[in-house]
Amino acid sequence: MTNDDGLKSDMGKTMEIALYGGSFNPPHLGHCTAVETVLNELHPDLLLIMPDSEPPHKVLEHGSPTPEERLELCRLAFTENDRVEVSDLEILRSGKSYTYDTVRELQLLYPDARLTLLVGTDMFLSFEEWYHFEYLLQNCRVAVLARELDDDEELRRTAEHFCRDCGADAVVLSHTPYPMSSTEIRTQLRRRSGCDCLPEAVYERIIRYRLYDAQPELAWLRERAYAMLDGKRIAHVAGCESEAIELARLWGEDPELAAEAGILHDITKRLSYEEQLNLCAKYDMICDHAELAAPKLLHAKTGAALARDLFGVSDAVFSAIRWHTTGKPDMNLLEKIIYLADYIEPGRDFPGVEKLRKLAHEDLDRAMLLGLQMSVEEIRSYGAEPYHDTLDALAWYRERAGE
Ligand code: FE
Ligand code: FE
Repeated sequence: MTNDDGLKSDMGKTMEIALYGGSFNPPHLGHCTAVETVLNELHPDLLLIMPDSEPPHKVLEHGSPTPEERLELCRLAFTENDRVEVSDLEILRSGKSYTYDTVRELQLLYPDARLTLLVGTDMFLSFEEWYHFEYLLQNCRVAVLARELDDDEELRRTAEHFCRDCGADAVVLSHTPYPMSSTEIRTQLRRRSGCDCLPEAVYERIIRYRLYDAQPELAWLRERAYAMLDGKRIAHVAGCESEAIELARLWGEDPELAAEAGILHDITKRLSYEEQLNLCAKYDMICDHAELAAPKLLHAKTGAALARDLFGVSDAVFSAIRWHTTGKPDMNLLEKIIYLADYIEPGRDFPGVEKLRKLAHEDLDRAMLLGLQMSVEEIRSYGAEPYHDTLDALAWYRERAGE
């Protein structure tokens, strides 16, 4: 933040700066509507969004993102208006984020500006517990963003008390409160919902880095994945997802992880050979001669890497995508489910598919053996040599079956 934008706005009017501090853990649509309210009602020249380093009044939930990460989320959330600026002042200061210290710093940066502190209901009602609260009341205007619908009377009484006894200038903004708290949103994120409560870019980043232990909403993930596919492949991917869920329920795997892997398993399938190679280079994946000669093999590797990069998939989902084309010896349950779901999804129609479908519902390892055998035969029927992972997998499942 610099002081170069001018201390006075046009016509010599005192610059009005509103300060919106908080944890923004995460920044959500409630914060965005609060910002709208402040811009519309107070018309500040500058609204500073100030994520705290360490909130003085509470301890952030275990596993909360770092202050720098919350800062980044705020930058993504508040991009729309050029009167709004996300400030790293408190985060750079580190330690407990006392508003008093921030106000003193802002007074040095903007000596002629009028500061308005934006506070929520709880913070306002406990304002007398704030560090140097008298200084704050004497040097800043306080604007209250009411959160609850029914506490207007108490707010007005407190505002009157501060005005009368501390010479404060306090206003209560008429504001439609957001029905969801950050705590509730974090809970929703862990339960594959909450997407609607967040700016798109914020949700995207939360899923990408799985902040708050978030799990993606499957509808959101489908929309993202389908946009990466050729139209004709969408039905296959949808079929693979539903088959994977069914097999997961049958064999005791997490159906939602199976759904994630099913949805994402072919996301790089439409990319050109060159694009596949670029992704291999980007994600440091070494390809052998056989893979380079059979580009179809590459999409399993690049798909897994891209799914992890864009959507933060777990190692289990990564691995299921990674091995869905070739298979490998001794596959885990999710890997087998995705390999077979890809093979037998309802849209598949080839000689023997019914037998394979039936077996996948009776004995997963025998189904793997049959699937691998069919795959090897098919590849050889083109005059090609199967990939060594597939041959190794076939040998492994043969031995397991006592053949
Ligand atoms: Fe595939
Ligand atoms: Fe597929």
